[in-house]
Amino acid sequence: AGTVGEALVLAAARHPDAVALVDGADPARRWTFGELEAESRRAARGLLARFAPGEHVAVWAPNRPEWIVLQFGAALAGLVLVTVNPALRAAEVHDVLERSDAVGVVVEGSYRGTDLVATVESGRARLPALREVWSFARWDELLAGDGGDLPVVDPGSTCQIQYTSGTTGAPKGAMITHRGMARNGALYATTIGAGRDDVWVNAMPLFHTAGCGLATLGAVQTGGAQVLVPGFDADLVLDLLQGQRGTLVLQVPTMLVRLAEAQAARPRDLSTWRLTTLGGAPVAPELVRRAQDELGVAVAIGFGQTESSPYITHTLPDDPHPAWERTVGPPMDGIEVRVTVPGTAEEAAPGEVGEICTRSACVMRGYYRDPDATAAAIDAGGWLHTGDLGRFDEHGYLQVAGRLKDMIIRGGENVYPREVEDVLLEHPAVDEVAVVGAPDPEWGETVAAFVRSERGVTGAELEAFCRARLASFKVPRVWRVVDGFPQTASGKIQKFQLAARLAEGR
Ligand code: ATP
Repeated sequence: AGTVGEALVLAAARHPDAVALVDGADPARRWTFGELEAESRRAARGLLARFAPGEHVAVWAPNRPEWIVLQFGAALAGLVLVTVNPALRAAEVHDVLERSDAVGVVVEGSYRGTDLVATVESGRARLPALREVWSFARWDELLAGDGGDLPVVDPGSTCQIQYTSGTTGAPKGAMITHRGMARNGALYATTIGAGRDDVWVNAMPLFHTAGCGLATLGAVQTGGAQVLVPGFDADLVLDLLQGQRGTLVLQVPTMLVRLAEAQAARPRDLSTWRLTTLGGAPVAPELVRRAQDELGVAVAIGFGQTESSPYITHTLPDDPHPAWERTVGPPMDGIEVRVTVPGTAEEAAPGEVGEICTRSACVMRGYYRDPDATAAAIDAGGWLHTGDLGRFDEHGYLQVAGRLKDMIIRGGENVYPREVEDVLLEHPAVDEVAVVGAPDPEWGETVAAFVRSERGVTGAELEAFCRARLASFKVPRVWRVVDGFPQTASGKIQKFQLAARLAEGR
C-alpha cells in the first residue's frame, strides 16, 4: 500500500468479513475489516467537515479502538495526526500542541484522574491555532459531520508527527510519511511470517510507531486480527492471549519480565502464542531464555527508532546465527544500514564500532519546523544518523554497542536528561544538576538526579516539584545531593563518572 489509508482499503477489499480489531477492554466489541474501513471513512468525512487536508490534528489519549479509527480516518482525509503520550503533564502537552500547529485535538475524557479536556483548555491562550477540542466521549458527533469526498493523498506526504524531547531540551517532531509507516509495518509483518491466521495482542502504546505502525499496519496489511490492549497490564495481556488465542506480541523488555512474573503467579494456556518481538531498549540474552522457558514463546529482536518508522533490523525466529540474541539482526529487506565514524558520513572500518545510520523510504522527512535538528539527523546523502553505536559482525548482523546520544531508556520510554535538568534548574534551591541513567532490574534504566544546593534541599521535595511538571516516567526516582561534580578540563560534568557511581551502588 502507498498510504496508510490505502492499506486499510486494500485489506477491506480482500477480506471484508475477517476480524480486524477487538477491544481488549471489552472483547465483545469487534470490527471486521469492512466495518473498520466504513467507520474510518465516516471519521474521515467527519474530520473534513471541520479541518482541511494537510492540517494537523492531535490525539492525546491512551489506547482505545477509536484511536485506530481516528488514525485511519485522518490518513484517508489527508490530515496529519500528531500523536501525544497520555502521560504528559499540562505544560508538556501545551508545548507539543503549540509546536505542532495543531488546529484540533481529540482527547480521552479523563486519564488517571486528570480531566484532559480541562487540561488542554487551561492552555488555550497559548494555542491560538487550536480551533476544536474533542473528547472521545463526543466521538459520535465527530463521526456525524460530512465534509464530502476524500482527497487523493500523496504517499510521500507526512502522515504523523511524533514528538521526542531532544537532547537540546526542545521537543522535536518527527514527520513520518504514509509510505514509511505502511512499508515498515508490511516489512515487519513479512519478516516475522505473519498472516491471516495471526492474532496480534497489541499492548504497545498507539502514540508510538510500535503500536500504530508495526502492530496495527503489520496486522492490517497481512489480514491478521488485532486485539488492542487498553494499557499495559500483565494479567490482562495473558488473559487476552489465552481468551482470544493470541499468536503475536510486540513488546519492550520490561513488559516481558512482568508477563513472566504474572504467568508464574497464575499460569494460563499460552499454547497459541508463537512469537514475541522485543525492541525499544537493549535486550538481555537472559531474557530471551526466560521467555522460552517460562512462557514457551519464541523470541525475535527488532531495532529501530521513531525517525525510521521505526524498525531497520530484525532477527528471525529461526535464525541460523550462533548467537543471534546478542545482536539485533540483519537489515530488513530494502532498508540500508551502515556504520560510520561517529559524527561523520565516513564509513567505519569493517567490524569497527561506529554510529548506526540508515537510509530508506521509511526514514522520516525531518523534524517539523526544525531545519537545524533535521540537518543534524539526516546527512546530505539521505542517511539518518541514529545516535546509537554499533558494529556489524562477521555474519552481517548488527550489534548495538551503546548510545552516542544523551538519553535514558526507562522501560522503553525515552527520557532526555536535558529536559529533566531544565525543570530542576527552575527550582530555587537547585544550583547545579546532572541527570543520568541508573541501572534498574525492573525498568532496565531509571532516572537519577545529582543535585548541588547551597541552600539545601531534599530529594522528596524535588521529586514533588518534578511530578507537577513532568510525565511520571521522566521523574527521577534516585536522588543524590552532592557538594560538587566530577568535571572535565573544560568544566563539563563527567556524566559517565556519575553513572559509574550509581552502577557501583554509591
Ligand atoms: P517506537 O517509537 O516504535 O516505540 P522505539 O522504541 O524503537 O520505537 P524510540 O522511542 O525512538 O523508538 O527509541 C529508539 C531508541 O531505542 C533507539 O535509538 C535505541 O537507542 C533504543 N533501542 C531500540 N531498540 C533497541 C534494541 N533492540 N536494542 C538496543 N537499543 C534499542
